[in-house]
Amino acid sequence: MRVSDDRYARDRLRFDIALRFIRHEARTHTIRQWTGLTDDRIRKLYRSYLNESGATHVHRHRGKSPHQAAHFMRTVRMRQESAVLASLCRMLDVLPHAAGGECLRGPAGIRRAHLLCQAYEVYCSLVSAPLISFEHAVFLITTLTRAEELALDGCRQCGALVIVDRLSLRQPRCVTCHASADSGMARIGH
Ligand SMILES: [Zn+2]
Repeated sequence: MRVSDDRYARDRLRFDIALRFIRHEARTHTIRQWTGLTDDRIRKLYRSYLNESGATHVHRHRGKSPHQAAHFMRTVRMRQESAVLASLCRMLDVLPHAAGGECLRGPAGIRRAHLLCQAYEVYCSLVSAPLISFEHAVFLITTLTRAEELALDGCRQCGALVIVDRLSLRQPRCVTCHASADSGMARIGH
């Protein structure tokens, strides 16, 4: 009895998380990876979500998943938003504290999937018109966990968490400290 209760609760949690992923327009592949549900169950869940919510359409992404780490470094605003999202993920333990944590390379784990939703939802509530889609958030977390191209580091001046390009030799600095250093240089130049 106890075993089946536990199992029921776990399945229930899996479905709840999958629904949150669907609302965030995640791909079937991503939902499968993070919840362990089969494609068939995800499709059924998606159909019943449309029926029950009265939503006529949830945008579904086709084609390639996000795959370019440079995406998160492209503009100042993107760098800021990526740092906010990554900081939330670090606070909620979606991101390991040591880079490349082995235990997090395997199946994502339902608890981590739940925390990822929380981190993403807080990010969306903090930022007006968020630039990072849920799929990109998943990609950012995966990239930072691998810590091959991008990593989290502390700003050398203020200690704020920043995302750094692992191949760059520059000292990590947050957007604010970077801007104030630039204006200092400009004053010296004139
Ligand atoms: Zn700083």
